[in-house]
Amino acid sequence: MDRLKLYKYTRRIISLLYPNRCPFCGKVINADKYMCESCPKFLPYVTKPLLPPENVSRLYACCYYAYRARTAVLSMKYKGLIYPVDAFALMMYKMISKEHADALVPVPSGFMSVQKRGFSTADKIAERISWFSGVPVLKALKARDDKQEQKMLNMKMRIENARQSFYINDKADIRGKKLILIDDVCTTGSTLSVCAELLTNAGAAEVTAAVFAKTVDLSRNKRENKKFSKKRTVDLK
Ligand SMILES: [Zn+2]
Repeated sequence: MDRLKLYKYTRRIISLLYPNRCPFCGKVINADKYMCESCPKFLPYVTKPLLPPENVSRLYACCYYAYRARTAVLSMKYKGLIYPVDAFALMMYKMISKEHADALVPVPSGFMSVQKRGFSTADKIAERISWFSGVPVLKALKARDDKQEQKMLNMKMRIENARQSFYINDKADIRGKKLILIDDVCTTGSTLSVCAELLTNAGAAEVTAAVFAKTVDLSRNKRENKKFSKKRTVDLK
């Protein structure tokens, strides 16, 4: 039995004790579903190519960090819920399925945030995408134990902080490989840019990046805001 089948089987058993919930609205759903019927119609999808950060060839994001997409990310990050991870991974897998890659590289979390949550979000998402796609996970990057959170810093400070936070895992062979960086949210892109720079300097052939959500200032982006209200459907089971 492959790992995905085994995992789905485990989900069914766990759901007998803890009902499986839609990560976007909290509604109880069948154990083999990743989200409810109606949420896919209301997610704030990214519908046009995003400008990738420096050193990154292409940047993929499923949703803007808003509305139900934001709620799901926050419930994963701060309530430590694992079920949003599966929904994010499935959507991200569908988004990058045409991208050729030798490995998925999760953006490492700092020691403190792993302690708080019990798991590293990017690690878990990358692991699930690997089950769906068969592309292996390569932990080519490491975070220093005292890694600082980026959210209170300005752009210049973010790049400097990211440079001090990550380093290459010497044991990972990345030479000549096409890599996809995996993370939950992209804010300014400074973390992805610094990670891609490290990987390229260590010999990676190409670095692209995939995140579940990209932040956007909705008050400044009325056209995107209008699109969010349109009903859209996707094939997610
Ligand atoms: Zn829902």
